[in-house]
Amino acid sequence: MIISTITEAIGSTPLYRFDNQHYSMPKGSAIYAKLEYLNPGGSIKDRLGSYLIKEGLAQGKINEKTTIIEPTAGNTGIGIALAALTHRLRTIFVVPEKFSLEKQQLMKALGAKIIHSPSEKGIVGAISKSKKLAEEISNSYLPLQFENKDNPAAYYHTLGPEIFHEIKEDIHSFVAGIGSGGTFAGTSTFLKEKYPDIRIIGVEPEGSVLNGGDPAPHEIEGIGVEFIPPFLSPLSIDQIETISDIEGFNYTRQLAREQGLLVGSSSGAAFAAALREIRRLPPGHRVVTIFPDAADRYLSKNIYL
Ligand code: PMP
Repeated sequence: MIISTITEAIGSTPLYRFDNQHYSMPKGSAIYAKLEYLNPGGSIKDRLGSYLIKEGLAQGKINEKTTIIEPTAGNTGIGIALAALTHRLRTIFVVPEKFSLEKQQLMKALGAKIIHSPSEKGIVGAISKSKKLAEEISNSYLPLQFENKDNPAAYYHTLGPEIFHEIKEDIHSFVAGIGSGGTFAGTSTFLKEKYPDIRIIGVEPEGSVLNGGDPAPHEIEGIGVEFIPPFLSPLSIDQIETISDIEGFNYTRQLAREQGLLVGSSSGAAFAAALREIRRLPPGHRVVTIFPDAADRYLSKNIYL
């Protein structure tokens, strides 16, 4: 593949097939993990970044002098920065202080400016700070992934169809982590149109509120919510799996050491939930999950040792 802009390398990521030779699961069953960490910016959010910029330009919300401002834990920032630089657009990201330093360095490497919001105010604090900044900076555009319907649409139009075309057999369950909820909502909606009986299963860390728990700090990064994302309301979710930091990190470590899959902790959590699901189902079933990002951005957290 010969390309002349890096955004052309986004998508068409491999699907890793696990069966009972890798992990104990019913005979003839398989888990397919979409290796989104192999996107050029190292995460699933490259899809969102390039879709947001493309739509923003098409809808006239972005012109060549626009500054893009976004609250982000990091991967969305990297994805937006990657797409923005191909159009020479300025980017400012508001990141809660506690989030991974490596992601902040990657955003800076792509020319973005980082502004911190207080860790204790979480992503909600980053959202309000971004809104304030957008009022102060003229010709700015705030895509706001937590509210913008282009977020699930990005996955409805890219990830969903890829999974459908690449796995030519019926898919029985789709299991994915929920942060903004965009990946889960967009991909589930597409797959449900193709397979009306598919089970859709969300994944959250302990400390997230989807199973009725109280918000609390957690170490698994990228998933978990303090409020119910608006994109989830049209869906009928079959189950939410809540994964502890310890279980998520254990699988993250195993995926690296045993399969060579250098993924982040939300992938370990998604895999833990996918294993629960495949073990609940009778033999011969297929579960699809997503490995959203790469290990390199968490090395300083020592979770792989
Ligand atoms: N995993 C990681 C590592 C992420 O950065 C994100 C996005 N915050 C997700 C999973 C969840 O994706 P979404 O925002 O689409 O729910």
